[in-house]
Amino acid sequence: MNTRQTLVERCSALFEDLSFGASRAWKDAQPGRKVVAYMPVYVPRELIHAAGMLPLGILGAGESLEVIHGDAYYQSYICRIPRSTLELGITGRLDFVEGFLFPSICDVIRNLSGIWKLQFPDVYVRYFDVPQNYVDGIGGSYYRRELEELKEGLEHLAGRLITPEALRASITLYNENRRLIAGLYALRTERPWQVPSSELYLVVRAGMVLPVEDHNQLLKDYHAAAVEEELPIRDKSRIVLSGVFCEQPPLSLIKAIEMAGCYIVDDDFMLITRWLLQDVPLDGDPLQNLVDAFLHHSAETSAKYQPEAKLKGQYLVDAVKGTKAEGVIFAAPSFCDPALLERPMLQTKLDATLVPHIGFKYAENSGQMQPVREQAGTFADSIKLWSNP
Ligand code: SF4
Repeated sequence: MNTRQTLVERCSALFEDLSFGASRAWKDAQPGRKVVAYMPVYVPRELIHAAGMLPLGILGAGESLEVIHGDAYYQSYICRIPRSTLELGITGRLDFVEGFLFPSICDVIRNLSGIWKLQFPDVYVRYFDVPQNYVDGIGGSYYRRELEELKEGLEHLAGRLITPEALRASITLYNENRRLIAGLYALRTERPWQVPSSELYLVVRAGMVLPVEDHNQLLKDYHAAAVEEELPIRDKSRIVLSGVFCEQPPLSLIKAIEMAGCYIVDDDFMLITRWLLQDVPLDGDPLQNLVDAFLHHSAETSAKYQPEAKLKGQYLVDAVKGTKAEGVIFAAPSFCDPALLERPMLQTKLDATLVPHIGFKYAENSGQMQPVREQAGTFADSIKLWSNP
């Protein structure tokens, strides 16, 4: 029976498995199957799926893997995700992966794509660039060419063409995936005690390693269980967690914030799962539909370039209002330049609208959560005492 507990236990096992047994099992189930990994933040997984391959999200190695080899390739004063990802590769944990996409989120990931090419010459490696301009004839044309090149590369790797019909079928599945995740986020916003964020994180994260068909079923099962099994309501402060967007926080950090008296009612974990805000249309040219969706219907976040200075950070104010949040906790990876450079601008926007906020940094393997719990607890208490007259 799919109780909340059994589902979360399954997701937890997937989360902790750094050998990626579920993805290996998918590959071994039929001869000739291939796996294409990708890093945060966004790649069009539909294209990988339409080529008959498994998209595998690699979000670093978390808390449990000691990084030894990875440190030899990078200086110590950068974030941990490239080092731990390299550790996964060098220790053979990704030896079943035939392709690897590195999205253009920062120079660190750009460098990692180069290192991967040198280190694993048999793997199809692509640095996947996305537009910083949302005009159809400029950024749109550029992105269309980028997708066409990616499509060709994936077809070559898969040994088959990606037909429009196959791409439409994949878009249908990922549209459903995005809807199901949006439904769970909406449920958490409405009744956060029913959907603890530490559970929601694991359930969504399972989609990084499972085929989308299985993940869709898992999301439906969890939603049903979360509605069914009542959990007690606590007197907590509602907060938005912001600043993550690439290297993920340890699960213990999410739990620490919750235990300190906060309901997380919105977050930017695993942005790929909520990047596109609407269903990608199925009629017409499906490749162009992916271009248009990225250009015109993608979520405003720290990871997306905002050309208009006055709109910078407005999405965060909107998220606070839309979720009836009472404050914002900035939690960003240590040494993450994009997140840390963004934060002063976001804080200014929040200050202008009198939204209280605090911030701290983490690494994916941060172990000591007592300071986080103390800060988040004090923040939650101060909201209760002074923000709600
Ligand atoms: S955590 Fe930040 S600095 Fe590190 S790879 Fe991601 S975006 Fe780049």
